[in-house]
Amino acid sequence: MALLFMAALAIAAPAAQQKSTKPLEIYVVDTEGGKADLWVTPSGQTLLIDTGNPGERDTDRIVQVMDAAGVKKIDYLLLTHYHSDHVGGLQELVKRIPPIPHFYDHGPTVEDGLNGHQPEMVPGFQAAYAKIYSKAQRTVLKPGDRIPISGLDWRIVSSAGKVIKTALSGGGQPNPACSGAHRMFDPHDPDNGQSVGSVITFGRFRAVDLGDLTSDIEYDLMCPDNPIGTVDMYFVSNHGSNNASSPEFVHAIQPRVVILQNGPRKGGDVETFHTLYSSPGIQDIWELHWGYAAGIKYNSPGLFIANIDDPAKIANVLTAPPRPPGMRHTPPSPASRAKRAKAAAHTPAYWTKISVEPNGKFTVSNSRNNYSKTYAPARSRENAS
Ligand SMILES: [Zn+2]
Repeated sequence: MALLFMAALAIAAPAAQQKSTKPLEIYVVDTEGGKADLWVTPSGQTLLIDTGNPGERDTDRIVQVMDAAGVKKIDYLLLTHYHSDHVGGLQELVKRIPPIPHFYDHGPTVEDGLNGHQPEMVPGFQAAYAKIYSKAQRTVLKPGDRIPISGLDWRIVSSAGKVIKTALSGGGQPNPACSGAHRMFDPHDPDNGQSVGSVITFGRFRAVDLGDLTSDIEYDLMCPDNPIGTVDMYFVSNHGSNNASSPEFVHAIQPRVVILQNGPRKGGDVETFHTLYSSPGIQDIWELHWGYAAGIKYNSPGLFIANIDDPAKIANVLTAPPRPPGMRHTPPSPASRAKRAKAAAHTPAYWTKISVEPNGKFTVSNSRNNYSKTYAPARSRENAS
């Protein structure tokens, strides 16, 4: 009897322990310069930020990480904005998984094709999306809102070109990086500036993800005071294009680790790498792809890169001169976008995984080479809630 009791204890104890220390897991999907990342909370709730590009390729890859994560459904879908590399996969994804109960977005599109506005990047998307969310709950997010996902404090800091006016806990200090900075207006792709931006807190871990938010809205958010404070992880805005990630944003939030959702020829600009590497406290830059724009000088060591082009192809460009600094990001035409997306398709595609413990310790791993690195909890937030 006593033996039985002890055996029961031995089984129960590790189970109880496991429950209290279950990690938050984040899977960053390779969508070839688009965006899709899956957040799985310790209680098994799921939130997907964006759905990658149109067609089956990116949807296959999202379903693949859902399998790897052992989850069958998406509880919350957050669309940062309506560009094709973010919402393109939605119509395919909803055919493959159980109905998604909650949708979040920034509200009406600025790409309505009326009064000189740009047309929708995914033709017919708004109509298709309305049909999809008509059977679910849809929330238009405002700065300051919360997404009620269990175990995380998910705060919205930007939406539809507006930003929070009240600092989050740990934020509110004057931002010295604003001195001498000015608001850089970006006329390209106005929907980027509409992006839903989130600050996500899990125990002592804090991450920021602003979709494709451009530097003009970063300036509105971060100057003169920093409402966010510092973070452990930054999901680099707009794939690392140089019309985002201004020093007044990056050098104020001081991420220790950044995740770059770039493509071989999308984002990952030299100026962005420069801002990241010169940011106080930066430790590592994890990339979804080796990026041609950044070349040998700025790309991270291969250990930190999930997908690497054919080495011979890379070798050919290593001796080519880098793109001149200061060249502004010009969005490619739809035709060249489609051509690039097709050329970029490769199998297999690898993801980056982040596993976070409630005490703030986190591990990033590369599914291509199984390299992983563990980061200690942030010291500066030891007394934070
Ligand atoms: Zn994008």
